[in-house]
Amino acid sequence: MQAVIAVLPGDGIGPEVVAEGVKVLQAVAARFGHTFTLREGLIGGCAIDATGEPLPAETVALCRASDAILLGAVGGPKWDDPQARVRPEQGLLGIRKALGLFANLRPVTVHPRLIGASPLRPERLQGVDLIVVRELTGGIYFGEKRRERGPDGEWASDLCLYTEAEVVRVVRVAGQLARRRRGKLTLVDKANVLETSRLWRSITTRLVREEFADLEFETMLVDACAMHLIRRPTDFDVIVTENMFGDILTDEASMLAGSMGMLPSASLAEGRLGLYEPIHGSAPDIAGQGKANPLATILSVAMLLRHSLDLPEEAACVEAAVATVIDRGIVTADIATPGQVIATTTAVGDAVAAVI
Ligand code: ATP
Ligand code: MG
Repeated sequence: MQAVIAVLPGDGIGPEVVAEGVKVLQAVAARFGHTFTLREGLIGGCAIDATGEPLPAETVALCRASDAILLGAVGGPKWDDPQARVRPEQGLLGIRKALGLFANLRPVTVHPRLIGASPLRPERLQGVDLIVVRELTGGIYFGEKRRERGPDGEWASDLCLYTEAEVVRVVRVAGQLARRRRGKLTLVDKANVLETSRLWRSITTRLVREEFADLEFETMLVDACAMHLIRRPTDFDVIVTENMFGDILTDEASMLAGSMGMLPSASLAEGRLGLYEPIHGSAPDIAGQGKANPLATILSVAMLLRHSLDLPEEAACVEAAVATVIDRGIVTADIATPGQVIATTTAVGDAVAAVI
């Protein structure tokens, strides 16, 4: 097949890990006979330096004209001034909103050899395979924000607003995913307190009855979910939740996998377009040293192949190659066990490409 992929390396370790993701894309193209046209664009701090804006119009146009987007990470101490007019993170929020990327998929699996790298008890981690579907373009992050001074001093508010259509479209994504997996869907909310959660619960319950009656469905309060993710993570298949709960729960869930450097993500719009990125940030503390784990980005490439290009066999090939490379002990420091030889970012990417 022919596909155009926008490549946005960004800042910090972004360019280092994206280079390995590109290497893997090229290996897949060679092995399966595809033509992937890669087009690079600027986003984040590097875009501010070059153009004054964190999300130049050319980058948005490039993404719109592509079949999928591979992104590294944005931000770093160089652009951290709170007084600054523009900040790198605006680039990321901007591209999500501009492309309508409303469903953020974060799979969490634990490779058997990495169980030792997690702070959790090994017997609880065996067989963890869950995916969080986080609503990404609504809720309290995007509602009206106010900050004013009243007779009793300052006050502030953040509006949390969801429409039926916003809930339905993301729950559908989660339901369809659950159907292709183990058939279990968990809605996480705070329906005992929040009106938006009661809306989520009634809409989701109805939608499941009408369209996903084949699924095992449960609802769970977010505080209980935070506990159960640690206590019995293997019980979860697909979790669907609103923007802020998803933000918090996925950082928590990432610790099941042992390292931020292992977790990929996909942000999907209606249709096939998607943006794929590791869940970690630009990690300025290790940038430029060849220490970054590229596997989160390489696993994001697998998600890109599966969701945007509809190439499930190629995606499975990348995931199998990652497992093989971990089995062979070719790993960066974040997932190495004591005494293990440490591989560089490039060495890990080379090994995955060679296996493919
Ligand atoms: P952001 O604000 O962009 O999310 P952050 O300050 O939360 O960034 P990260 O950049 O995500 O932080 O990094 C958090 C820690 O995890 C850092 O100590 C970093 O070195 C480590 N880390 C992140 N990504 C990787 C990776 N790919 N490989 C190894 N270590 C990583
Ligand atoms: Mg972070």
